[in-house]
Amino acid sequence: MGLIPKIIKEVFRKSVEKPFTIHYPFVEIKPAEGYRGRIKWTVSKCTGCSMCATVCPANAIVMVPSERTQLKKEPQFIHYKCIFCGLCAEHCPTKAIELTPDYHLYGLKKEDVKIVTAEK
Ligand code: SF4
Ligand code: SF4
Repeated sequence: MGLIPKIIKEVFRKSVEKPFTIHYPFVEIKPAEGYRGRIKWTVSKCTGCSMCATVCPANAIVMVPSERTQLKKEPQFIHYKCIFCGLCAEHCPTKAIELTPDYHLYGLKKEDVKIVTAEK
């Protein structure tokens, strides 16, 4: 088969095939097992020990004064700096941090992309 018929055949084949891409965000996809997405932090489990901020390689956690924890400090997550390595969750002694499979991390402003804070 000559080159031109080959190209025509390929163009025709591709025009009737299903695309490899999906129409996100209109189509939901199931994240792979172990996917690390939006951070969830549970206030009631946090002691304010600062371990998460110490181990974070992206400086995405700063400790701020707080009346809600034993040591009067709590982590503030700067989500747009986070590289989702999971080290904060791994090292938190009280398991107050969890990386959820939520991958919908988009917004028009930086403030739109926040962590989930759970009180209990
Ligand atoms: S490591 Fe855990 S307990 Fe310590 S400040 Fe961070 S979230 Fe709180
Ligand atoms: S997942 Fe990694 S980069 Fe993100 S806040 Fe935790 S330690 Fe920092």
